[in-house]
Amino acid sequence: MDFKRFLDININEDNKFIIFKNNKILYEPKLKTFLLDAAYLDLNLDELELVGIGIDNNKIYALDITNYNQEINVGYKSLIEYDIRHLLAISNPKDIVLIGRANQLLHWVQRNKFCGYCGKLNKFDKKEEALFCKCTSTMIYPSIAPCILAMITKGDEILLARNNLFPRGLYSILAGFVEVSESAEETVKREVLEEVNLKVKNIKYFGSQPWPFPSQLMLGYSCEYDSGEIKIDENEIAEANWYKADNLPYVPPDTSLSGKLISSFVADHS
Ligand SMILES: [Zn+2]
Repeated sequence: MDFKRFLDININEDNKFIIFKNNKILYEPKLKTFLLDAAYLDLNLDELELVGIGIDNNKIYALDITNYNQEINVGYKSLIEYDIRHLLAISNPKDIVLIGRANQLLHWVQRNKFCGYCGKLNKFDKKEEALFCKCTSTMIYPSIAPCILAMITKGDEILLARNNLFPRGLYSILAGFVEVSESAEETVKREVLEEVNLKVKNIKYFGSQPWPFPSQLMLGYSCEYDSGEIKIDENEIAEANWYKADNLPYVPPDTSLSGKLISSFVADHS
């Protein structure tokens, strides 16, 4: 897969499309695919928001048909609107990259259709693969939002919390967005203090993972408890407790960076 960004439409039966509608993704359940063939679709591409996301023998485009009122399926048995989170749960890593890239780049072209300074339509620079307007000539690249994951340990225990937005029963390590002018390590200290009222030390980088839903890059850190008593920020956290490796609640799978961090703790303490 050659990762490219392009807006030119090359009318070709071999093109592939990843199609979003009302924040869901179109899916062919019999063929178990979301990568749809141009030959089986009837799309008037002049009327649609789309972006090229890569070339893998064929050009792959992401497009949004939320406001498109015509039937597009002419060759598939059926196309259903599938929840993106459910699709991520059953997809392999390569497909998750494609779905994420399609999702984020489509948001990028939709949000930056017009220049924020003068209000005119932005243009596309093929060399930079970025949007721009002549009034400032500043290139608008897809923006990535760094977000930390903080695994706190205290001897043979790990702190796991249940975010208010999590499904019931699921616990994980803490997470938060990096603030403007802040280092990722400072974010770890701030988020831990804000969310559970603890001070931490020995902050160590673990690894990263893109999460383009819509635009995060997760930066994983481990750190050690320094001082304080757990006091949760009830706006974000429903519950937080210390757990031993042999008595963990339900936690995210190893396909996520938070799951990998938790597994590293289990491996070190069993
Ligand atoms: Zn402008």
